[in-house]
Amino acid sequence: MHTRNFVAGRWAGGSDGRVYAVRNPADDSVVAEVPDSTADDARSAADAAHAAFRTWRAVPARQRAAILRRWYDLVLAQRETLGRLISTEQGKPIAEGRGEVDYAASYIAWFAEEAVRANGDVIPAPVPGRRMLAVKEPVGVVAVITPWNFPAAMIARKIAPALAAGCTVVAKPAEDTPLTSLALVALAAEAGVPPGVINIVTASRQRAPAVVDAWLADERVRKISFTGSTPVGRHLARESAATLKKLSLELGGNAPFIVFDDADLDAAVDGLMVAKFRNGGQTCVCPNRVYVQRGVHDVFVEKLARRVAALKVGPASRDDSQIGPMINARAVEKIARHVDDAVARGARVVVGGKRLRDAAAHGPNFYAPTVLVGATPAMALSCEETFGPVVPVYAFDTEDEVVALANDTPYGLAAYFYTQHMARAARVADALESGIVGINEGALASEAAPFGGVKASGYGREGSVHGLDDYLHLKYLCEGRLA
Ligand code: NAP
Repeated sequence: MHTRNFVAGRWAGGSDGRVYAVRNPADDSVVAEVPDSTADDARSAADAAHAAFRTWRAVPARQRAAILRRWYDLVLAQRETLGRLISTEQGKPIAEGRGEVDYAASYIAWFAEEAVRANGDVIPAPVPGRRMLAVKEPVGVVAVITPWNFPAAMIARKIAPALAAGCTVVAKPAEDTPLTSLALVALAAEAGVPPGVINIVTASRQRAPAVVDAWLADERVRKISFTGSTPVGRHLARESAATLKKLSLELGGNAPFIVFDDADLDAAVDGLMVAKFRNGGQTCVCPNRVYVQRGVHDVFVEKLARRVAALKVGPASRDDSQIGPMINARAVEKIARHVDDAVARGARVVVGGKRLRDAAAHGPNFYAPTVLVGATPAMALSCEETFGPVVPVYAFDTEDEVVALANDTPYGLAAYFYTQHMARAARVADALESGIVGINEGALASEAAPFGGVKASGYGREGSVHGLDDYLHLKYLCEGRLA
């Protein structure tokens, strides 16, 4: 386990020697201590990334691709160790920890392949004797700031395209989950990523603003790639205006999941279980509001409740756990507040609806998988991400009504709907204000697809053939006097 910052190819403590504890959310035990870094540490990381940029951008794309490919191989070779580390610091069941390693690795492989395809254009010149070209260049030093819910995947899907494009990186993982990113960067160095190309500094929640502010103020940092909450994304957009950085912002969601009365209900329940309960409901694309057409409402709820009641809740150390702990006490407080508010406003608990405090089986941060019926737009869980294993079910009557309800949110990351009616599928897919739409499908994530939102869910796309462009800019070359 690596527990120090990685700057300029060396492991180092923070400049003032302060550390903070990383805890296992299943039982709050201390897993490790890591540097609580300062603005000086952030500046040292930027110095290293800036110095490395000149040489890294000049490495031929095929060679950068080969290094990324070696990194991919090393990550997969350490699948079990990394999977367990993810589960230990983040809490997700071990099967999901392993799955996240595969998912993170898939982005590294994808961008190893994309590195050699940053093609530009030859533009037909409007006058004789001229050649006009558009070439793609790396933007420069990229600051990568990531959340805790996918400690490997979030950082891999930013660092891999950055390196493929020829950029260098300074990164700050979330306070709760720094260990996976440090393990990943160790493997990147082993794969041949040169010193200074990836630099990681860890920090507590209190010091995160100081670290990131140092990068926001730094002219040499040309781009911010951020995944996290919308308020922090807005803050970064505002504060980077002074140095006009390029931004990729993958922010919060409030995903609707719609079940029409012509849907295959068993498929819809399967899709909802996958989409909602992955990572205990702590994903940005988790359905937050489930709308079921009145004619199938009761049957759907009955099928769903049976499946939810059967979920096994427990720590990642138990192989059969399907729902792990929430990330920390604040997360459990928020879930409890949402459920209590919904019940006070007329919702009925069908399954769950409580914290699990049985200390022998559960630690302090567990919440029971929950189904609520009678949800309404007035409830807090209609407007805010719950980020937990709670399914509020709303009854609706018409297609127009449910599309309006689904879009009645500032967010627009993911949306799902189930129908077997072709024309309705086309209409609803067009009408949903969302960057990602699942149509009769609950598992959407893929390195080959463009991932990102609209409205308050941010901008920029990760993965797919479009993902590399976020780390490149276009330079126009005009050659004259050729006739
Ligand atoms: P967060 O509080 O916004 O934190 C994200 C990152 O920003 C962390 O590294 C955090 O550091 C840092 N940060 C917090 N306050 C900051 C500040 N004032 N200045 C600079 N950096 C700051 O979000 P989170 O709670 O970790 O993650 C959950 C959110 O992420 C949800 O809204 C979820 O929907 C969203 N998310 C979106 C996507 C997507 O692809 N769209 C994917 C996953 C998650 P600390 O950890 O030290 O606070």
